[in-house]
Amino acid sequence: MKQIALLGGTGSIGLQTVEVIKEHPEEFNLLAFAFGENVDKALPIIEQLKPSYIVVKNRAIKEKLGNRISYNGKINYGIEALNEIVSLSKVDIVVNAVLGSVGLEPTLEAIRANKQIAFANKETLVTAGHLVMKEAKANQVNLLPVDSEHAAIHQCLKGENLKEVNRIILTASGGSFRDRTREELVGVTKYDALKHPNWSMGSKITIDSATMMNKGLEVIEAYWLFGVPYDGIQVIMHNESVIHSMVEFVDRSVMAQLGTPDMRIPIQYALTYPDRFNYHLSDALDLVQIGQLNFREMSFERFPCLRMAYEAGKAGGSLPTVLNAANEEAVSLFLQDHIKFLDIEKLIENELEKHSVIKNPDLETILSIDAEIRDSVKRTGLKR
Ligand code: NDP
Ligand code: MG
Repeated sequence: MKQIALLGGTGSIGLQTVEVIKEHPEEFNLLAFAFGENVDKALPIIEQLKPSYIVVKNRAIKEKLGNRISYNGKINYGIEALNEIVSLSKVDIVVNAVLGSVGLEPTLEAIRANKQIAFANKETLVTAGHLVMKEAKANQVNLLPVDSEHAAIHQCLKGENLKEVNRIILTASGGSFRDRTREELVGVTKYDALKHPNWSMGSKITIDSATMMNKGLEVIEAYWLFGVPYDGIQVIMHNESVIHSMVEFVDRSVMAQLGTPDMRIPIQYALTYPDRFNYHLSDALDLVQIGQLNFREMSFERFPCLRMAYEAGKAGGSLPTVLNAANEEAVSLFLQDHIKFLDIEKLIENELEKHSVIKNPDLETILSIDAEIRDSVKRTGLKR
């Protein structure tokens, strides 16, 4: 029986992880469960699976939850408590499905504690990829990607020699505005932006898909996970989200991984790796019914956030930290109706232009840049 610590359990990935755990009660036990503030979503899971350890965002939520649970689970709060549950000696697998760079420190802790990590929290790799990968290498810990593109690449690379990889081809559905011109983006609302054509996901990543920043973050994530240079990572548009990504080898042979757009499949694989378990939660892929798959060239003019992500990734140092923090804050302002859709990219570009890059920043520097940039974006954004 594998003991699981799930971070971000009330989110889109978190809830789907719970479904996978429930499908295999003989194999998995939810030992520790962490979430932010959503007590109503958390309670039914907690009452059903009775995790021994629970971590929430702050003291107020701890008290609110404490009044409502029926058994003797240990409730704690804050980042220290997250760090504690990922390093519990009983834990076998840590699922990092929190949103944003708050996942950084628990990831480092889980690596130091030598846990298998099912990793969804891409912002952590964007903000501090060099620190995370250095620690992973030193402790010989694999980050098992949950993100569908990276899970695909990971599978295509199984048993392969990384030196024989020519390029990685990431597919992008294009998000909710893929068929609109830039002129047609003026005045779009968050409700329009939240209608993703293929995937049902949390709101931040759905907005990131509409701006194409999600693919930009994924380019940086791929760079760190697979060690392929930026010029060897290509993004193409693929409307159907059936091919989750591809790897081209030096002999021009291309491997692709296909599947229905269902995140529970890569989540389950990250939990069962290197084995595969049966899966019954959705239908098998039916290519005959789909009929055809479409591909288009990606445009940096149409999607400047993707261009900015490549530039920040290539520049390295503290610039990806700035990219991520500015994006997290700008998307949050957009979701709260403080700024317009096209302001997101402007606010990010503004921060990237102002920043003087610090080479090889340590954890303290990253956390302070992260806070400083969020502050600056908030101030500029609220003036608009
Ligand atoms: P959601 O917004 O749906 O969920 C985020 C989760 O993080 C919630 O459980 C939230 O708790 C929790 N959380 C936020 N802040 C804290 C905190 N300070 N302490 C503890 N928990 C916290 O996001 P998604 O599930 O969509 O995405 C999660 C990650 O997975 C992101 O990095 C995303 O990029 C990545 N990802 C998501 C995909 C998807 O299909 N959704 C696909 C590929 C990658 P609460 O809501 O209770 O406050
Ligand atoms: Mg993805």
